[in-house]
Amino acid sequence: MPGMRTAIYPGSFDPLTNGHLDLIYRAARLFDRVIVAVAASEGKNPLFSLDERIALLRRVVMTVPNVEVDSFTGLLVDYVEKHQGEAVIRGLRAVSDFEFEFQLALMNRKLNPRVETIFMMPKEAYTFLSSRLVKEIAQLGGDVSGFVPAPVKAALGRKLRQIKRRK
Ligand code: ADP
Repeated sequence: MPGMRTAIYPGSFDPLTNGHLDLIYRAARLFDRVIVAVAASEGKNPLFSLDERIALLRRVVMTVPNVEVDSFTGLLVDYVEKHQGEAVIRGLRAVSDFEFEFQLALMNRKLNPRVETIFMMPKEAYTFLSSRLVKEIAQLGGDVSGFVPAPVKAALGRKLRQIKRRK
């Protein structure tokens, strides 16, 4: 649709946390359409398969009409171009995120000067949240209720029981 502004929010989302969700809601208020683009991230040895991560995201963002969930492979800038995205959304939690994100944004700009990266900050309470920490806490038997949406908490429980049975 002409004049429609689309933002692409890429990531591994292994799994989706309340921090990611906070950014999705913020982006959905700024853009006409937000595509959450889930990367396979095989190299990161994800706990959840790509399909599982997508299904969880879809379930949680179902209620937001202008948010879609998709998978992407290959270069992010090519995906953005193909979907006529105006901007890439990335999150900044702390100074420690900055160096990598800065490098990534400038590299993407080099690859395609039309692709703009927009950084958003989550609600303060989510600045210490990461998928990696959430997985660690769940693995150690901690309660992740305040950190992830309920369907993600349930999926984490199921996944960890599955792994335990296999051992
Ligand atoms: P990636 O593997 O691309 O880093 P992630 O799923 O870990 O994928 O993160 C995707 C994006 O979301 C990154 O820009 C990251 O900084 C951001 N992000 C992750 N957790 C949070 C959070 N708690 N608050 C805000 N942004 C976050």
